[in-house]
Amino acid sequence: MKINDCTALISGGASGLGEATVRRIVEKGGKAFILDLDEGKGMKLQEEMAGSVVFQKADVTSEEEVASAIQRAVDTYQSINMVVNCAGIAPPSKVAGRKGVHSLAQFSKVIEINLIGTFNVLRLAAQRMQENEENELGEKGVIINTASVAAFDGQIGQAAYSASKAGVAGMTLPIARELARDGIRVMTIAPGLFHTPMFDSLPEEARNTLGESVPFPKRLGNPSEYAQLVEAIVENPMLNGETIRLDGAIRMQPK
Ligand code: NAD
Repeated sequence: MKINDCTALISGGASGLGEATVRRIVEKGGKAFILDLDEGKGMKLQEEMAGSVVFQKADVTSEEEVASAIQRAVDTYQSINMVVNCAGIAPPSKVAGRKGVHSLAQFSKVIEINLIGTFNVLRLAAQRMQENEENELGEKGVIINTASVAAFDGQIGQAAYSASKAGVAGMTLPIARELARDGIRVMTIAPGLFHTPMFDSLPEEARNTLGESVPFPKRLGNPSEYAQLVEAIVENPMLNGETIRLDGAIRMQPK
């Protein structure tokens, strides 16, 4: 698959890594459909890239809202052959000053959005992709999820976030094997530290020092570097069922 042929559904596409992905797809000649809760940012992107971007407000945890967004994406672009699951939340961890283990309600909310929301979008989108015509390689589409390095080495206060992202990484291979029978690939990217609004919500001290802890290139990742990997995954048919760390070799030390 080539990115310029993509009609992509991007959850969380109104901000950060998702927005960078939308921009890259459109720059390369593809089309994007943004599914996000943030109406202000989403509508702004739709206006800025009119004709190539459509926004719909939807919550990834709602089957009805996601199904309706997917239907509109298919009505708009005839089909969708690419999904990038970026929607997610990161509750304050110890770095942001909280102590102790989450309440059950906090834990459930993070799992609901980051893990179940990702599965919800993936499942409903895959159903529609199964109707696509195969390309010459037998492919009907590609789904890319977003985990985090916290799936592998989470910090104090990140139990819910780490569990949600480990769940995303863990479901990637079995779903990829299952959807391979339909010509749909499934991959997951596990970013390290990227400069996005989510990162900007950390305290100033953490924001100023964390970049230096990345062995190379000794800075935070740019969202465009995430989008670069999305493109590489789309265009390489051998990449399937894998979770790729995109983190400059950072390994978080317990704090
Ligand atoms: P961001 O906050 O800039 O963007 C997240 C987007 O998701 C927002 O536009 C938000 O409105 C949307 N969203 C949140 N809950 C939603 C819901 N229930 N339904 C629909 N949309 C919803 O964050 P980001 O840094 O771009 O993060 C994108 C993804 O990457 C997240 O899953 C995050 O956990 C993951 N990630 C980010 C980093 C980082 O350093 N920025 C590192 C590792 C993983």
